[in-house]
Amino acid sequence: MRGALGLMLASLVAAVLICGVWLFTSSRAQQNAPQTVAARMADPLPPAAAKLSPKDDVTVTAALPEKPAAPVAVAQKPSSCANPDALGVSRVVEIDPTGGPGFGFEHFKQLDFLGDKEVVLTFDDGPWPGNTPAVLKALEDECTKGLFFAIGKHAMYHPEILKQVLAAGHTVGAHTWSHANLNSKKLSEQQAKDEVEKGFSAVKLALGTNPAPFFRFPELQHNPAVMTYLGTRNIAMFSCDLDSFDYKKNSSADKVVQTVMGKLDKLGKGIILMHDFQKHTADALPTLLRRLKEGGYKVVQVTAKAPVTTLPDYDEALTRELKVPAVSARPVSTVVQTVSQR
Ligand SMILES: [Zn+2]
Repeated sequence: MRGALGLMLASLVAAVLICGVWLFTSSRAQQNAPQTVAARMADPLPPAAAKLSPKDDVTVTAALPEKPAAPVAVAQKPSSCANPDALGVSRVVEIDPTGGPGFGFEHFKQLDFLGDKEVVLTFDDGPWPGNTPAVLKALEDECTKGLFFAIGKHAMYHPEILKQVLAAGHTVGAHTWSHANLNSKKLSEQQAKDEVEKGFSAVKLALGTNPAPFFRFPELQHNPAVMTYLGTRNIAMFSCDLDSFDYKKNSSADKVVQTVMGKLDKLGKGIILMHDFQKHTADALPTLLRRLKEGGYKVVQVTAKAPVTTLPDYDEALTRELKVPAVSARPVSTVVQTVSQR
């Protein structure tokens, strides 16, 4: 009987002990519960976020701005810029070409996106051996960016140079197929449209990707019907605020610098029209970019919200045309002569 009582007591003590341990463990488990839930919630995060320690996670969340970052990046001096005193890029703008907006005060007064002392560097008629690479070098030395309007034919002659323009981070638009004056009475409306579309298709073919939906009329001859057409194609038009006159026969590197700086000092800002096709511009550019920097001017880089959509008929026709042996076998100089340019 004593033995049985002792056994019961021992069992009771053991039961109390087991209960106690269970209660203790269970209360600890409850204390730990929030951490377990938090850990489970972290599971669905993408691998990069999941790798963050809880401390990192809090820091990242706390650092998020209330509003999403503006889509326009500011790349004043990219880390790859070797020149500590470079002109750089003070602002990057992105243009929505819907409806074919026009820019440049010489023809379009409505949309003025430049602030005081802001300039846009634009280059027409390339790509061209020697001159275009020299322009690219000058821009690279100053870690700055331009907007290039390539001629379709030139893009077909020198696709590798146009690829370099794009690879250097510049914006590439089109300047017709053959630099025809689209206001000329010799051109039908259809021929003028063909010049536009074939130009874009050629630039696309040279680049291997769609260019920006940006167009400049040769000689700044704005044909009203083509302007309306560009609107339907959602292609933006660029005139200019000031012309460097670098194409004139009596021009020189010094004159290009004087003309641009003289006009800028009067206007205070502007879209500058130059030609990477012209040797005077290639020669003038290192000095001109220095003068811009010294004068407190800031370069605005112009980019597109989305690339142009070329028309498949023109892409295919151009590809077929380029496969004709007689065309590729003829030297450039016997096929094309520059008769007029701006
Ligand atoms: Zn031109």
